[in-house]
Amino acid sequence: MPLAFKCFRQAQHAESDKHQAREDLDELSGDDLAEDTAHGHRQEAGEDQRRRGAKEDGKGRFASGGKGEGGELGLVPQLGQEDQGEGGDDGLPIKEHEDDCTCNGRKSQPPPSLPKGSPAGIMPGMRVEAFERLVAEWLRLEDFKAADRALNGLQVASSKTELEKIAFAVDASLESFRRACEWGADLLFVHHGLFWGEALPVTGVHYRRLRELLLRDLALFAAHLPLDAHPELGNNAGIAAQLELQDLEPFGAYHGVKIGLKGRFPRSNTLDEVVERLCGGARSCPGVLPFGPQNIQTAGVVSGGEAEEVMQAIEEGLDLFITGESSHIIYHHCLEARINVIFGGHYLTEVWGVKRLAEKIRSATGLQTAFLDIPTGF
Ligand SMILES: [Zn+2]
Repeated sequence: MPLAFKCFRQAQHAESDKHQAREDLDELSGDDLAEDTAHGHRQEAGEDQRRRGAKEDGKGRFASGGKGEGGELGLVPQLGQEDQGEGGDDGLPIKEHEDDCTCNGRKSQPPPSLPKGSPAGIMPGMRVEAFERLVAEWLRLEDFKAADRALNGLQVASSKTELEKIAFAVDASLESFRRACEWGADLLFVHHGLFWGEALPVTGVHYRRLRELLLRDLALFAAHLPLDAHPELGNNAGIAAQLELQDLEPFGAYHGVKIGLKGRFPRSNTLDEVVERLCGGARSCPGVLPFGPQNIQTAGVVSGGEAEEVMQAIEEGLDLFITGESSHIIYHHCLEARINVIFGGHYLTEVWGVKRLAEKIRSATGLQTAFLDIPTGF
């Protein structure tokens, strides 16, 4: 999300077989997608609720979120919180790497023969180029070039030509890089990548992050707005499914592209009921503005740091607006416009997309996937 970008900037400181595989992938339909992800929605919800550690401020408003506890995921392999990386004086790992050595000790090998019964009949290894094309098509990366300042796609390459293990995380960071390599990932997929539309000197944090990726021979792929907006795989789609919103329509225009969703509840809900379903209860919800109708029938959802999008929710007469991060400046406007707002946490409203894509890639390609849970409390 755009505000996420701001936050990050502040903080920063056999060929024929392969052709057939690509054709098989191209034939995957939206129905496949919905079926693959339906099971994941239910598990995501329960795990996210347990993971949240936010505290109330006494009024149940604007309480700051606490760091999650991590946990097991049924959806995709869940890695532990313990870490990782031996670290040098500057906190960076000091490892000798052979020129042809991967970070998990596996060397480049010819792709194995096609296993019987693998999902979609596809070999476990996939060429990097095929992965790029597949994800770009699924997430419609081209459609967001004008609206998204983020560099969507392969941000950092590695020496590997074949991928077997893909790790997923919300944020590009030294921790996510190290944990991805501890798991043996060939590529890390993130929602918040390293490049945001402006030239950056390769110094400081940016240098150390790039050095980590290059030394560990870990590729980095990022998808920002496309992963918020995707109608089935996206963050907002995940939240809408969790809340069982119906009659979904695009909502929340950003640079001319609607990246959120709005919809109608199958029955009216109280704010507490929505908070319970989204966050697992008020104590786990970073913030609530209970200023709107008690019987909530409609909601607009924009994941991440999009508090200002509440203005669109007000204009459209919605009963409830849901986003990730809170904002002081919208308080009185929401009070006077009489709208309910839930600040579900930037991180916690943006784990949906990476989890859904991880499951989709695993089920469709047979590649191994893992979600790295690294909550920030925001
Ligand atoms: Zn974000």
